[in-house]
Amino acid sequence: MALLKSLKARKSDLSKPENQLAFLNNGIFKEGKLPLFKDKIAETGNFPLKPRKLEILQLNLGYMCNQVCSHCHVDAGPDRKEIMSRETMLQCLDVIRHTKAHTLDLTGGAPEMNPNFRWFVEEASKAGIKDFIVRSNLTIILANKKYHDLPEFFKKYNVHVASSLPFYKREKTDKQRGKGVFNKSIKVLQMLNEVGYAQEGSGLKLDLVYNPAGAFLPANQGGLERDFKKALKEDFNIEFNSLFAITNLPISRFLEYLIASENYEDYMYALVDAYNPAAVQNVMCTNTISVSWDGWLYDCDFNQMLELKVNSKVKHISEYNETLLNNRQIRISQHCYGCTAGAGSSCQGTLD
Ligand code: SF4
Ligand code: SF4
Repeated sequence: MALLKSLKARKSDLSKPENQLAFLNNGIFKEGKLPLFKDKIAETGNFPLKPRKLEILQLNLGYMCNQVCSHCHVDAGPDRKEIMSRETMLQCLDVIRHTKAHTLDLTGGAPEMNPNFRWFVEEASKAGIKDFIVRSNLTIILANKKYHDLPEFFKKYNVHVASSLPFYKREKTDKQRGKGVFNKSIKVLQMLNEVGYAQEGSGLKLDLVYNPAGAFLPANQGGLERDFKKALKEDFNIEFNSLFAITNLPISRFLEYLIASENYEDYMYALVDAYNPAAVQNVMCTNTISVSWDGWLYDCDFNQMLELKVNSKVKHISEYNETLLNNRQIRISQHCYGCTAGAGSSCQGTLD
């Protein structure tokens, strides 16, 4: 509690990843009130955590974003200057041409704001990756005239669009993502439907990403998907393919929110109580490599935010070696409980 109070008094300290990690390792975990994640997974023989099979290469094209969402684990916003350079993109393309991963997942910030975004999509699509995901916040498409034709661009390269939408009602969405975000998101979903996304026979995939608006775990993914589909169809004639329900991990802006709202301990108890040993074997880091805007390699984008680089001889995209990376030990800490709570959580939704 003393640490909590002192960190609240010096809230800005939590912008440093090492302080977030220290915070997560102290308090209720140091006092032994809750088990460390490594001890918890050791109970079922899952420590050390190792990769299974590389399936997804996730590239973060930069932390710049037109939004400043209250729970953003990337701490993204319009003032962030970190952007993947063309040189790093060329190194990524070299890896994409030789990787065994079948999915390329572009994320940010708003990945579309990277000035080389379109060039990179064109080049990467030539590499013949099976599933090519762009994580779009939707509103970027209306933010500036130069983005208005992105739905057509996505269609041309058969990009699988995964769009964030915290809820199917205006109030909850705007509360988490900013005033006016809901209306803009609806408009862009309609634009995507108009060019063929989520329409039968088009082959163009449009998925929604839901994360809770507060310090609670997501409800059942199937039930949420049914509710979203019904409401969006009835209210706005919008269609989409699947909904991914994602648990908020206690890092970055969401960790600050938990502390400021005095929900941190309750939330960690809830995550540990909901620990699901069956989810451990499928956590995202067992089939994904995450690449930061400056080319460093991480087990997942949460570890990227905590600056926990892969535990391997190769740490940068320029020295990428899939065999060595497949033999690494995954770096874990208490934030990992967010991936194993309930039905489990990953960028592709629940794990069961
Ligand atoms: S749109 Fe996504 S990346 Fe941008 S601030 Fe919101 S959560 Fe973060
Ligand atoms: S936070 Fe990252 S390292 Fe931890 S379990 Fe989740 S995916 Fe794996």
